[in-house]
Amino acid sequence: MGRQENNPDTSDVLVVGGGPAGMFAAAAAVISGAKVTLLEKNERLGRKMSITGGGRGNLTNTASLNDFINNVPGNGRYLFSALSRFSSADCRKFLKELGVPTKEEECGRVFPVNEQAGKVVDALEEYLTVSGVRLIYLVRAAELLLANRRCQGVIAAGRRIFAGKTAVIATGGASYPQTGSTGDGYALARQAGHQVTPRHPGLVPLCLAEQHLCRQLQGLSITNPLLTLTTAEGKTIAIERGDVVFTHFGISGPAALRLSRVVSKQKTAAGVCDLCLLMDVLPEMSEESLADLLLSMASEQPQKAIINIIKQLLPGRLAAICARMLQVSEHQKSGETSKGAWREAARLFKNLPFTITGTRPLAEAMVTAGGVSVRELDPRTMASRLVDGLYFAGEVIDVDAYTGGFNMQIAFSTGWVAGLSAAEKAGFPAATYKQE
Ligand SMILES: Cc1cc2nc3c(=O)[nH]c(=O)nc-3n(C[C@H](O)[C@H](O)[C@H](O)COP(=O)(O)OP(=O)(O)OC[C@H]3O[C@@H](n4cnc5c(N)ncnc54)[C@H](O)[C@@H]3O)c2cc1C
Repeated sequence: MGRQENNPDTSDVLVVGGGPAGMFAAAAAVISGAKVTLLEKNERLGRKMSITGGGRGNLTNTASLNDFINNVPGNGRYLFSALSRFSSADCRKFLKELGVPTKEEECGRVFPVNEQAGKVVDALEEYLTVSGVRLIYLVRAAELLLANRRCQGVIAAGRRIFAGKTAVIATGGASYPQTGSTGDGYALARQAGHQVTPRHPGLVPLCLAEQHLCRQLQGLSITNPLLTLTTAEGKTIAIERGDVVFTHFGISGPAALRLSRVVSKQKTAAGVCDLCLLMDVLPEMSEESLADLLLSMASEQPQKAIINIIKQLLPGRLAAICARMLQVSEHQKSGETSKGAWREAARLFKNLPFTITGTRPLAEAMVTAGGVSVRELDPRTMASRLVDGLYFAGEVIDVDAYTGGFNMQIAFSTGWVAGLSAAEKAGFPAATYKQE
C-alpha cells in the first residue's frame, strides 16, 4: 500500500479537526480518562471560531430545548439527545471553569464577558494542553484507516499513520474555506460508506435580479420588514420578519439570511432559481389602513409633492424608487393624485416585488447546510452505524441552524457527546458533566 511504517503510538480517541466540535470532543474524552490526540491542519486551533459573532463570539443561546430545536431548520430533531446531554447551561459552566465567564444579551444570545472569541479559543487550547491532549498541528487527515468495518485511525497527507482505537471526525463544513473548513470530512465519510447529502449555503445573503435597484439602494437598511418568498406561480414557500440591508448584489441582514437556506436548497436541487420575494416595508399596517392613511395625508397636504408624502413613510431612496414603480412624477402634487393611485401605492409598499437569482456562494456562507447524513449516525452517541469506532461531530454532519449562537452550541454538544462516546468505546466509562 506504500504506507509509511512509523510505528505510531495508539491513542484511545483520535480527534480530527480543532474547531469547537473537535476541541469539545477532545475535552470530554480526556475528562473520561482516555489518551487523546487531536489533529489540526492549521497552525492553530479554532480559526473560524475566532471570527464568530464579528470576533465577539456568540457562543450559545439560552433558549429552551424546544425553542433551540425550532431554530435548527436542518435536522433539529436529530439533536435532541445531544443537546439534552450537554446543554448550553453545561457549556457555560464548563467555560466558566476554564476562566471564560459568559453573559447573556438580547434574544438569549450568549457571549464571553470579554467579548473576544479568540480568547475563548486560547483558553480551550490551554485546557487541552494542560489536560494532556496531544495537539498536533499542520497535519491534514486524508484517509481513514479501516479494517473489517472498524476504524483504526487515520492516514495523513504524506501517508503518516495516526492510530486510534476510535476516531471523531470534526472537520467542519465547507464555508469560509480560508479558515480550514474545506469539506475534507465528506470524503472521509464517503470512504466509510456514509451518504453525504448535497451541500448548499446556509445563512448567506440573497442575490436579486434587479441590479440597478440594488446599486441605488446599496447600504440602505429597512427595519423589520416582512419578507415572503414565493414560487414564480405565487405559491408562498417561506415568510420571515427581520431587518434587511441592501447590498450591491441583493439583500443581507437577519431576515435574508434566514431565507437563504430555502433559496440555496431549491437552486441546488433544480439548478436554477425561480423564486420571487415580496417585501412588506410597513407590516404593522393592513393594506386598507395604509391606503386610508395615504389618502388622509394627501388631503391634509394637497400642495405637497407626492414624493414628499411617500418619504414620510419610507426611507428617501426607496421612496424615489417606489414613485418610479408607480409611474408617477415625483413632483406631482399629492392633491392631484387619484384615490386609485394611492391605493396602488399602499399595495406596492406592502408587496415590493423582487426576483431572486440565488444566494452568494457557499464559501461566503456562515454555515453549510447538508453533510454527513444523520440517518446513518446514532443521535445518542454520534457514532457511525456503518463503521465501528467512528464518530462525527459539528458542522460536518447534515445539521444547520439560524444565527443566535445555535450553530456553535451544536458543535459543542455533538463534540462533547462524540468525545464521551468514543472514550467509552475505547474502555473509559462515560464521565457525566451536568450543570448544577
Ligand atoms: C463569519 C462567521 C461567523 C460565525 N458566527 C457564529 C456565531 O457568532 N455563533 C455561532 O453559533 N456560529 C457562528 N458561525 C458558525 C460556526 O462558526 C460554525 O458552525 C462552527 O465553527 C462549526 O464548528 P466545527 O468544529 O464543526 O467546524 P469548524 O469550526 O469549521 O472547525 C473544523 C476544523 O477542522 C480542521 N480541519 C478540516 N479538515 C481537516 C483535516 N482533513 N485534517 C485536520 N484538520 C482539519 C479545520 O482547519 C478547522 O480548524 C459563524 C461562521 C462564520 C463563517
